Amino acid sequence: MLRVGGVTPLSASDWPGQLSAVVFCQGCPWRCGYCHNPELIAPRSDREIPWREVMDFLQRRQGLLDAVVFSGGEPTLQAGLPQAMRAARALGYKIGLHTGGMYPRRLAAALPFADWVGMDVKAPFAEYARITGMKDSGTPVRESLQLLLASNVAHEIRTTVHPALLADDEVEEIAHELVALGVKHYVVQAFRSQGCSNEILRSSAPRARPLQELGADLAENFETFLVRA
Ligand code: SF4
Repeated sequence: MLRVGGVTPLSASDWPGQLSAVVFCQGCPWRCGYCHNPELIAPRSDREIPWREVMDFLQRRQGLLDAVVFSGGEPTLQAGLPQAMRAARALGYKIGLHTGGMYPRRLAAALPFADWVGMDVKAPFAEYARITGMKDSGTPVRESLQLLLASNVAHEIRTTVHPALLADDEVEEIAHELVALGVKHYVVQAFRSQGCSNEILRSSAPRARPLQELGADLAENFETFLVRA
């Protein structure tokens, strides 16, 4: 049903406030330099876990965990995602979904089975290719974001900031684009070097000013706003 590249049995951070198991879906069409799960980018892996084994694990953890988060890679790459979400929900779990938003129609098919979505907005929409390595990749993200906002599914919109890839004024530009689309809850998070295979990005460029300071300027635009430093 689903190509799974890994499972984290217990996480308190992938869906804030929920104790979750995280199912890492194999495959992603983008090539973000700061990706911290590069082993999940290829469409297939010799470390895949059969979906049946994932379901067996989830059955054993019933009553011990709140939720299952489908992450990646890019979960919406796989047509089997909605069915997998439905199967996990039938075991009594709440369902979270992490997505980059590159497949709006597949996101629309998954949203009825999601209780919460964490969606990345990586750059001003016109500048996406610089982060993802894929031309015009911001266009479907805008569409996905509009679908998510219209769905009434609880969500978190977040931007990962690496100072070499995203200048402070570009973060401000993203925030303005989000406000214009009706985003009310926004998180800005600092790049984490853990797992990143890009040596140059790992050694990290210095920030012009602290992310908290930038965040203080943005906060008033949103109902809830958070900096994860
Ligand atoms: S979209 Fe996510 S999984 Fe895909 S390359 Fe970018 S950071 Fe990695």
